[in-house]
Amino acid sequence: MDAKTIRNTFLNFFKEKQHEIVPSAPMVVKNDPTLMFTNAGMNQFKDYFLGNKIAENTRVTDTQKCLRVSGKHNDLEEVGIDTYHHTMFEMLGNWSFGDYFKKEAIAWAWELLTERYNLPKDRMYVTVFEGDKDDNLEVDAEAAEYWKEFIEEDRILLASKKDNFWEMGDQGPCGPCSEIHIDLRSDEDIAKIPGKELVNADHPLVVEIWNLVFIQFNRKADGSLVSLPAKHVDTGMGFERLAMAIQGKQSNYDTDVFQPLIQHLAKKAGVTYGNDEKLDIAIRVIADHIRAITFAIADGQLPSNNKAGYVIRRILRRAVRYGYTFLQFDAPFMYELVDILAGQFNEVFPEVEAQKDLIQKVVKQEEVAFLRTLEKGLKILNDLMDTHKSEKVIPGREAFALYDTYGFPFDLTSLIARENDFGVDEKGFNEAMQEQKNRSREDAASERGDWMVVHEDDAVEFVGYDATNCHARILRYREVTEKKKTIYQLVLDQTPFYAEGGGQVGDKGTLTSGEEKIAIFDTKKENDLIIHFANKLPSNLEQEVYCEVDTARRKLTENNHSATHLMHAALQEVLGEHVAQKGSLVNDQLLRFDFSHFQKVTDEEIAQIEKLVNEKIRENIQLNEQRSIPIEEAKAMGATALFGEKYGDFVRVIAFDKDYSIELCGGTHVDATGQIGLFKITSESSVAAGVRRIEAVTAEAAEAYINEQLALLNEVRELLKNPKDLTKSLTDLTEEKATLTKEVEALRNKELQAMKAAIVQEAVQKEQYNFIAKKVSLPNAQALKQLAYDIKAVVDNVFLVLAADINGKPQVAVMIDEEVVKTASLHAGQLVKELAKEIKGGGGGQPFFATAGGKDINGLDAVIEKANGLA
Ligand code: ATP
Ligand code: MG
Repeated sequence: MDAKTIRNTFLNFFKEKQHEIVPSAPMVVKNDPTLMFTNAGMNQFKDYFLGNKIAENTRVTDTQKCLRVSGKHNDLEEVGIDTYHHTMFEMLGNWSFGDYFKKEAIAWAWELLTERYNLPKDRMYVTVFEGDKDDNLEVDAEAAEYWKEFIEEDRILLASKKDNFWEMGDQGPCGPCSEIHIDLRSDEDIAKIPGKELVNADHPLVVEIWNLVFIQFNRKADGSLVSLPAKHVDTGMGFERLAMAIQGKQSNYDTDVFQPLIQHLAKKAGVTYGNDEKLDIAIRVIADHIRAITFAIADGQLPSNNKAGYVIRRILRRAVRYGYTFLQFDAPFMYELVDILAGQFNEVFPEVEAQKDLIQKVVKQEEVAFLRTLEKGLKILNDLMDTHKSEKVIPGREAFALYDTYGFPFDLTSLIARENDFGVDEKGFNEAMQEQKNRSREDAASERGDWMVVHEDDAVEFVGYDATNCHARILRYREVTEKKKTIYQLVLDQTPFYAEGGGQVGDKGTLTSGEEKIAIFDTKKENDLIIHFANKLPSNLEQEVYCEVDTARRKLTENNHSATHLMHAALQEVLGEHVAQKGSLVNDQLLRFDFSHFQKVTDEEIAQIEKLVNEKIRENIQLNEQRSIPIEEAKAMGATALFGEKYGDFVRVIAFDKDYSIELCGGTHVDATGQIGLFKITSESSVAAGVRRIEAVTAEAAEAYINEQLALLNEVRELLKNPKDLTKSLTDLTEEKATLTKEVEALRNKELQAMKAAIVQEAVQKEQYNFIAKKVSLPNAQALKQLAYDIKAVVDNVFLVLAADINGKPQVAVMIDEEVVKTASLHAGQLVKELAKEIKGGGGGQPFFATAGGKDINGLDAVIEKANGLA
């Protein structure tokens, strides 16, 4: 069975059991402060488990893109070293939301594995939760009972909380689980050690393939467990491990999921995979990491310097380093693998093929940038290991310097160190990091309390598309402390407040409770809850509140949001269909839009885009909003959907003239485009390889922007005495200036020559030298120096003192022929100091030439007098 068939067999099996096949959620998580990347199939269904939302389908199945590189689930260190943990992997799952429970979940899992995939029963083991004293939980006898129907009792093993109690994070839904493990060893090996002894013992050939989780609790912030109102099933099976078992391989990397990547890499490096463990690890790491990077970019997460973007950058650098050190890849190579992935996943995850060009560009540029510094960084690291070879530890501060200057993530430094039997002082590294940014300390100091329920009611309605005010009841609230500041978050049963999303900022406004007015300073989403941010709580939480959105701010924001849609369509028309949104910010001041495009947008294109958008504004096109239409229908209408965005079965479609702009969008918009008034692009720039950014303003802000520009122009016009043709006048002026500058220079030069000639004439022959002391007037210090050298060039054995007025500032220069310095033992540096006293200044220099500046321009005559006295 090839990989595609294995995946489809799973989905179709559960479809037969009345499950709906749903798409994977994006791998990059938005709207959840507790999670950066999807790390399990259940993430996207969290709200159903918590009871925040009612599932439309109580049985669903899917294959979920997961990434386990941060937070509670982090497998990064194992990846490539072992053969069955990946950074990015697919998790096949079936779900019951308050529908079936342990009995069916167990029976179906067994049926699928043994009857459809024909996996051998005598190679499988199952585990059930043994109970836990601290949590006051009994052994899961129920699950064990069901298993006994299918499998011999001695293949049912008890397992501890660590392995068989699944929790998504520190807080949230959780429950006991029952896992299925498979023994892939040879008969001889099995004869030596029975498989049951190797279950949950990190043996690469006795691995867990499927985890059936029975969600029945919610873990609260204080660590206690509460029973959930309804029981759910959440299962997760590693697709790549399943493929290994079915295809009779001993490593995930030997399946057709990875072989195309592996063979490409081996060929490129001129090696054979499977001959040398060190090289094999490098090849596996690269084959694994490129998947994580590709899918992250496809979901809209570009590599960057912070948060999720930095995690992706680190993974990429890790892979590049393995290639560089072990496979001698010193030019970009990762980007070539994107093509293979696009083909492999065309059917399930078409987002890769659709954005192939962009992904390749971004990956390649990252590679180029990192390879440039890698070489230097590695050399420094080698030197460090040389310096610290006795203690075998790289100091934390040095590791931090590598990170700071050469972009070496800490885990990369420790990885290389480990390969050389070195440690790295992590504490020191962290201290250095801490010092550099106190910011991270503040970020860490965030504490969120449990939700306090005021009214038991789960229906939360957003009325903000139609109204900007309404009455509401407070359903729940909690206290959150961030950066030492305590704020309150409130959930209402209905609200006109738009929660930040789709680039649009959250609404501000007020809640009125009796006589009290409470400011709402932001509104955000957490999963599907709309959360209102306030600095205090109403004193009576039971009382109904009156919600009012700051409508002036909302209106300006809507102008910018609708203008973003008009511009998006204009970009596609002017630049081409390849333009895809990569980021968006819409607030009451401006709109910012990032999109894929491979070169600078020219001035002409900008003008065309502005023209098109302003035309659409003047047409005063009515908003066509369809609130709840099936996603397939919306797509058929040609609505633009964003990559990496999570859409439900029913979507909202926003159109301004169906043939011009039609997008899936949850934001708020103008009733008709005329309200936008005016659209003006204020800047165009680059944010990353293949990604451009445009900022623009609308309505009053656009008017203000244009007026500012016009005022500037007027000022210039006035300065030029209101010429008829401003451009010509300015060109003439600059040309004239250039000519004049040249003339002035020529004249000055002439003057200098004449001055020089006159001064030379004044040389007085003394016994040991030809003496000159002269007061001069010069444009700058450079001219003084030049004059001194010029005179020296034509007067033999010169002893020259020049007292100069340089634009009103006094300076003295002394020049003495090198021969004279010796024979008359004179020292220009000492002389100039003495002379400078007359101009209240000081200076110095070499024996043959020295200068000094001063404060008293009236002292120049005295300088000459003194010089004459010295001669
Ligand atoms: P393990 O103990 O092997 O790390 P786990 O207990 O972390 O697995 P679960 O969180 O139960 O795994 O995830 C469900 C299934 O997903 C596992 O049974 C396994 O098949 C698969 N899986 C988990 N982590 C990975 C990974 N890093 N790479 C590939 N597959 C994985
Ligand atoms: Mg794990």
